[in-house]
Amino acid sequence: MQPLLIVHGGAWNIPPKLQAAHLRGCAQAVRRVYPLLQEGLPALDAVEQAVNILEEDPTFDAGRGAFLNARGEIELDAIIMDGRTLQFGAVAAVQNILHPVSAARLIMEKTEHCFLVGKGAQEFLWAQGFPEVPPETLLTERELAFYRQIREDPHFTTRRPFDPSPQDTVGAVALDREGNLAAATSTGGTPRKMPGRVGDSPLPGAGAWADNQHGAASATGWGEAIMQVLLSRTVCDLFATQTPRKAARQAIEILHTRVNGRGGLIAITPDGEYAFHHNTRKMAFALYHPEKGVLAGIDQEHLTRFSG
Ligand code: ASP
Repeated sequence: MQPLLIVHGGAWNIPPKLQAAHLRGCAQAVRRVYPLLQEGLPALDAVEQAVNILEEDPTFDAGRGAFLNARGEIELDAIIMDGRTLQFGAVAAVQNILHPVSAARLIMEKTEHCFLVGKGAQEFLWAQGFPEVPPETLLTERELAFYRQIREDPHFTTRRPFDPSPQDTVGAVALDREGNLAAATSTGGTPRKMPGRVGDSPLPGAGAWADNQHGAASATGWGEAIMQVLLSRTVCDLFATQTPRKAARQAIEILHTRVNGRGGLIAITPDGEYAFHHNTRKMAFALYHPEKGVLAGIDQEHLTRFSG
């Protein structure tokens, strides 16, 4: 089977000065991981590795570069899901780790649970020897400056107007040579969120979903709305009756019309076709095209070969 890989780096009104870094970051993840998929890397490893690359990149709101919460701290959420078994692992509100998606995988594989949060998650991770990093490893000048700017602003909200507020969550969806699907999503959440706030990203069916029978997806955008319509699961359900393109558009329409949500999704059908859509002005994403190589887009209308 021809493997597939698609990644995203958030859906919002990405300003022109930040677009090149978003395109480069997404394209880089596909360029590094796709050849491994071709050699037989399982989809689950591919999505973890692609998201690890995006978590390291300070461009995005995941791992290094994450937003600060209302207390000026970084709390991270992530999920990884295996389409063969429907097993998933997730973490939420964890601090001092660079790769929450790998923490999520450890929970999936080494505990009898699916989801750990906060202190309990960290205690488990440190006991497993998972690398603990100081907060400065995750903190960027950009986010510190942004936090200082919005900290006391009574008008700042991630709710409305949503579009100008940054949303740089990352995600990946893969189909491997064996026909297995996997999905992963990782985020620092929304700027100035309440401590303890959990968004859609680590929730199965909302921030990501993977099922060999129905498809796999990763979502990004305004989390409070995405979790109300289980956006990732919804698009996979729609693949049963719609073309991939229509299914992606309809899932985003449901997000918009039912809960006035804004966001985007990337997905792969069980037959091996890509799907993506967003109702934010921009969405950063990249994929591997069998004839054209690595293609990256800053919105769904402009998908171009990425050589830089
Ligand atoms: N969905 C994420 C959240 O609400 C934010 C994003 O996609 O950038 O936590």
